[in-house]
Amino acid sequence: RADTSSLLETRGLVKEFGGLVATDDVSIDVKRGERVSVIGPNGAGKSTLINLITRRLDPTDGDILFKGESIVKLKPHQVVQRGISKSFQTASIFPDLTVMENAEIAALAAENGEFGFNFLTHRDKLTSVHELAEDTLESVGLLSRAGTTAADLPYGDKRRLEIGIALAAEPDLLLMDEPTAGMSPEETQATVDLIEEVKEELGLTFVLVEHDMEIVFSVSDRIVVLNRGRVIAEGTPDEIRGNPDVQEAYLGG
Ligand code: ADP
Ligand code: MG
Repeated sequence: RADTSSLLETRGLVKEFGGLVATDDVSIDVKRGERVSVIGPNGAGKSTLINLITRRLDPTDGDILFKGESIVKLKPHQVVQRGISKSFQTASIFPDLTVMENAEIAALAAENGEFGFNFLTHRDKLTSVHELAEDTLESVGLLSRAGTTAADLPYGDKRRLEIGIALAAEPDLLLMDEPTAGMSPEETQATVDLIEEVKEELGLTFVLVEHDMEIVFSVSDRIVVLNRGRVIAEGTPDEIRGNPDVQEAYLGG
């Protein structure tokens, strides 16, 4: 079944910080099943764009549509409930809890949107929460580490847990902001493998911010190039590779 409808659309998104325009009239369109990367020099507005979509930042102007409805007035947890998850935020891990407990909390939060959850009246849900947590850990290769305290995980496994936490919410759209930042070559490779797995096995729609062009070219269906807050180019990896404006934005910085 071909579904070519837009999952995510930003329309004329503007974010100003004081006098600085971090995103300037950004309109992007992500179809269901599409893998889109956002690239651009430092300070181009990539993280700002992601934080506007997750609703951690309020836009100065413009709109964000998800599944055809505006989400621009929603709170961050409501956006998660609608199906947008952001991965690779260490802040999403509870370091003192086990890997399984972290996955269960993520699964529970996804079902209920918040932690004001009455366990006694929802006993039946707990089984499904545990199963979802187990499935999630299995899909990111961490089931054998279920009993390990999250703080004791090696760095690469922490990143796996982060993506697991994002996946436990069963998102329709996964956002990733520089997932390989600060990683060794081995950890970077493991993360790329994980992104490929997410792409192939779960068929998940994602928006990836990444500076490593090799990764961008290998995982993306389409690439959006930002420079000084504006979209200066977009297209397939082949189109972007040969685009002179992109070369200039990077080389002329
Ligand atoms: P990128 O992720 O592409 O490197 P950012 O979106 O982080 O870029 O930043 C875009 C611009 O907005 C930069 O000039 C940055 O300094 C500025 N900026 C980002 N966040 C804030 C903030 N909270 N307050 C003020 N300026 C900010
Ligand atoms: Mg950034």
